[in-house]
Amino acid sequence: QNESLSTAAKSAVFSPSSATPSVAVEFRQVSKSFGQHAVIRQVDLSIMTGEVVAVCGPSGSGKSTLIRLINRLETVSDGEILIDQQPTSALKGAALRQLRTHIGFVFQQFNLYAHLTAQDNVSLALIKVHGWKKKDARQKAQILLERVGLGDKVLHYPEQLSGGQQQRVAIARALVTDPSIILFDEPTSALDPEMIGEVLLVMQELAKSGITMIVVTHEMSFAREIADRVVFMDGGQILEQAEPEVFFTHPSHPRAQRFLQKVL
Ligand code: ADP
Ligand code: MG
Repeated sequence: QNESLSTAAKSAVFSPSSATPSVAVEFRQVSKSFGQHAVIRQVDLSIMTGEVVAVCGPSGSGKSTLIRLINRLETVSDGEILIDQQPTSALKGAALRQLRTHIGFVFQQFNLYAHLTAQDNVSLALIKVHGWKKKDARQKAQILLERVGLGDKVLHYPEQLSGGQQQRVAIARALVTDPSIILFDEPTSALDPEMIGEVLLVMQELAKSGITMIVVTHEMSFAREIADRVVFMDGGQILEQAEPEVFFTHPSHPRAQRFLQKVL
């Protein structure tokens, strides 16, 4: 009994909720250009473990590029991005795969494989990248699909699913390697309005789970009700960062004010 007590005490000390919050993602003077076109300009940004950040701003402001840099779908032109305090710009091979295992990504256009069932879309990376047995990988996929409310759709193909269901499969897929960070690029923008709610609900549950979330979104209800912080971008720069309540009621940058007048 003594032993179980000391185990409980240890887990209280080391559990993420009681640990000192640490920086999960840090941009240090990050710039990104495509040819002559500077798309991200000397961005500094720190995101804490477990934080939920909504990134908003006009079309073309660099939001997608910003989050694609985090899991190295794009490489920085200058500066450094640290994940859990580790520099990432020089990673390649197995170390880069390890980084991507640690960071889930959900795209606007779902990007599911049409010839694979929901279950196989979710389990694929475990089998191909991590060498899991098919049976074990499918079992884990089943659990994740249940978590996003699709326990009865595991054997359905993407074309047999609605847009909202497909996006929930994509979220399950992004979670399959137990990432500690998950990135969303306008996850509801390709959906019919009546399907947005079911996806936001899954994201809301996820936000409570302690995972670090960075969400590019035009869904101001998400930003307002679920995010801990709103980051506003324009012209490849972060022009304002604030708690949602402050951002939506008293934006300080004129361009943020103009943006909000258009979207609200
Ligand atoms: P947002 O997501 O805010 O709409 P993006 O990050 O997609 O903005 O794009 C920012 C700018 O970078 C745009 O002008 C876009 O045309 C440009 N851009 C994005 N990706 C590429 C690319 N692969 N090659 C060239 N230009 C790009
Ligand atoms: Mg974009």
